[in-house]
Amino acid sequence: MPERDREHPGERPTGEIRREGVAVSAGIAIGRAFLVGRDLIKEPRYHVEADDVDSEVARLRKAIASSDKQLAKIKSKLAEEEASSDFHIITAHQLMLHDEHLVDATIGYIKDELINAEWALTKAVGDIRGVFDAIEDDYFRERRSDVDFVGERVLRNLLGKETGPLKPPPDAIVVAYDLSPADTAQLHKHAVAGLITDAGGKTSHTAIIARAHELPAVVGLEDITELVLDDDLLIVDGGAGVVIVNPTPTTVGQYRDQQRKQVALEEQLLGNKDLPATTTDGVTVQLYANIDGPDEIDGALEHGAVGIGLYRTEYLFMVGDQVPDEETHYKTAVEVLERMAGRPVTMRTFDLGADKLAKFLEEAALDEANPALGLRSIRLCLADLGQGLFRTQLRGLLRASAHGPLRIMFPMISGVAELRAAMAVLDEVKRELRASKVPFDEHIKVGIMIEMPAAAVIADLLAKETAFFSIGTNDLIQYTMAVDRVNELVSYLYEPLHPALLRLVRDTAIAAHAAGIPVSLCGEMAADPLVAPVLLGLGITELSMSAVSIPEVKGLVRASRMSELQALVARVVSLPTAEEIRAAVAGYMAGVTAGVAGK
Ligand code: PEP
Ligand code: MG
Repeated sequence: MPERDREHPGERPTGEIRREGVAVSAGIAIGRAFLVGRDLIKEPRYHVEADDVDSEVARLRKAIASSDKQLAKIKSKLAEEEASSDFHIITAHQLMLHDEHLVDATIGYIKDELINAEWALTKAVGDIRGVFDAIEDDYFRERRSDVDFVGERVLRNLLGKETGPLKPPPDAIVVAYDLSPADTAQLHKHAVAGLITDAGGKTSHTAIIARAHELPAVVGLEDITELVLDDDLLIVDGGAGVVIVNPTPTTVGQYRDQQRKQVALEEQLLGNKDLPATTTDGVTVQLYANIDGPDEIDGALEHGAVGIGLYRTEYLFMVGDQVPDEETHYKTAVEVLERMAGRPVTMRTFDLGADKLAKFLEEAALDEANPALGLRSIRLCLADLGQGLFRTQLRGLLRASAHGPLRIMFPMISGVAELRAAMAVLDEVKRELRASKVPFDEHIKVGIMIEMPAAAVIADLLAKETAFFSIGTNDLIQYTMAVDRVNELVSYLYEPLHPALLRLVRDTAIAAHAAGIPVSLCGEMAADPLVAPVLLGLGITELSMSAVSIPEVKGLVRASRMSELQALVARVVSLPTAEEIRAAVAGYMAGVTAGVAGK
């Protein structure tokens, strides 16, 4: 999407404008808009030392080589499809990549002006564009866009994912078409007040990160970047999914009041931090935290998590250019174990792909039409591309298991064959460690995530060969309903209370209980006050969620009677639609929730 024309933003309604999107992270934020370009690829500009010139030039050459590889891949696909005109354009782009006007000029800028590769490249691209601009011929003038295209590709490869100029001022509200999970993870460091986007769904990783950092957020607003101008005053109500542009002073006053009440309620809820999550008839529920990095451990403990139910280790791969080495895996896991002080920690092996990208994956330029159904997660770990990294991670995690109650979990297991393949790699790594007398926990529990219908349907078979289940409903809903979890256009179908989903969860729980293995649920639905009671009634008494949600869910558990929840669920699972199930649960819970705070 081209940057919006700031001089002529087009018609927009005057006065206060209210928009509704997908509510993904509760809380009220009031602040000034900070608009981010759609692709976040403005180049960073800095000077380099003379000693660093060679490494800048090497970075440039590497980015050109990666761009070339990506274009070659696109070309071979076009050749298969016999799309000959596009094929020639790509060939032209490849030639341009190596054109001396671009390469030599960029290197010249790096050397002569001692500037970084991104800045030098932008200057060289600008020079070439200037030449085309001066030509009195429409065809040639149009070639500017080819130059831009090539320059942008090289720039993307230079930047990778983690850099980027995203430096919003404190207390700003970031307004973007979309943000990568990695970019979102950086936002809280800038102390921004909130986040709103055109794209996205409730369980996109961007949304999950916003929740983890308690950043009020509304996504799926479709055209908010078209409507909002930099510095507009905005109100974001992340709980209600509402954004108000240019609110009147009266509206601001109302939301400030609401903000104060919410903060007071949260503080009251936090009063239950050290109380057990036990129902009125004596069933104790374990409430764990989902985290993405050690910086979330304090939050997990402050909100009363009894352990880490899901550590998303893939974030180690998503920051920086390097893949993590064995020491990084080992030290990270040991740090988490130490800071959790004897509480159980479940680390999931890296779950990359789809919306979670790492530099090495981008360089591989897999060019998949459906990444969510592609070489991701455990499939990537077992494929040539990821297996070395998987082994390295397993070595680090196994070594860390000597330091505390660590469990390992494999994501996206599709069936017994895949589980056995992953276990075979783990067994080999264990043998290597034993041979070199490196200590690890010989009894370490290794479990799997149930994230696709295939796994849920054969949960009885999987339960015989694994130590525990963790139901990942963010993906289980996506694959059951055939609805992309990051696509706002179909988010209305993303329904945790759909009877099909409830049956899959129920049957998974039954299979786990029959086999005598623990089963937990770590999808975002565990934190939904209308859904958590249903999960409890289905027999899931271990829930893992964003830490910020734990106090509220604990309040609900402490106000509930398990025998009644079981009776409620027995009744609602045979209702035909999610709407009817929701209404029945809401009716029952209305009685329970009165007076929940502080329970
Ligand atoms: C899930 O799919 O429910 C899950 C917890 O994993 P992630 O959200 O990281 O895909
Ligand atoms: Mg998942």
